[in-house]
Amino acid sequence: MNRYRVDLHIHTVLSPCAELEMSPDAIIKRAKEEKMDVIGIADHNSTRQSEVVKQLGGEFGITVLCGAEINTKEEVHCLVFFENNEKLNEFQVYLDEHLPRVKNKPELFGDQVWVDRDNNILGVEEKLLIVALDVSMDEVAAKVNEMEGLFIPAHADKTRFSVTSQLGFLLPDIPVSGIEVSANVKMKEFELKHPWVKNYSVIGSSDAHMLNQIGSSYTSMLLEKPSFSEIKMALKGEAGRKVVGIIKNDRLSTD
Ligand SMILES: [Zn+2]
Ligand SMILES: [Zn+2]
Repeated sequence: MNRYRVDLHIHTVLSPCAELEMSPDAIIKRAKEEKMDVIGIADHNSTRQSEVVKQLGGEFGITVLCGAEINTKEEVHCLVFFENNEKLNEFQVYLDEHLPRVKNKPELFGDQVWVDRDNNILGVEEKLLIVALDVSMDEVAAKVNEMEGLFIPAHADKTRFSVTSQLGFLLPDIPVSGIEVSANVKMKEFELKHPWVKNYSVIGSSDAHMLNQIGSSYTSMLLEKPSFSEIKMALKGEAGRKVVGIIKNDRLSTD
């Protein structure tokens, strides 16, 4: 078994708040420079850019998990990932159904386009992606769980759009695969305030909106190989697979 570098929270050009430089090829090249083994594509409430990034990743030896950063009815951000295209597409239908019809104003919020590997525009999302879905956190978690996906409350230490800021704590019956903390987390302080966090595997990611943020915070995982199912096992601590820790500035974070 080997240690792998995993950054599961990267936005692309499709997210209105991400820089236009976040094209599939630029993301993969940067991830390669940062020696990432696995990255997760997590645009706000949409999975539409992730497949192109996955294809390119395959050519550069980078495993790409396809999914989204959903915004629940309670305005809790959660990372979701699926094992194959069939499930990804099924979840996209669910997102289209549950994303309210609020029109994007690109001049105000930013462009929402998805592109091919050569940066030709494949489509424009007309609905504003950063609004909340009309389904609650436990409803989305149940849907993702039923589809055998990963469901990870995002940047749980943050004072906005997190499970702690919106709900105070995580209901123990919500089926989550792990908890993500932001690059700025003070882990000991966070655990003191929210002791329930210790019941879960905790991962760190960059939440990159621009290229130079990719890999700035990531998770070291012990895996047989870099794949969706191995990461799922590591989050559960199964068969020797595990989350080793969060790496920031090239060091294991121990604060
Ligand atoms: Zn977020
Ligand atoms: Zn994000």
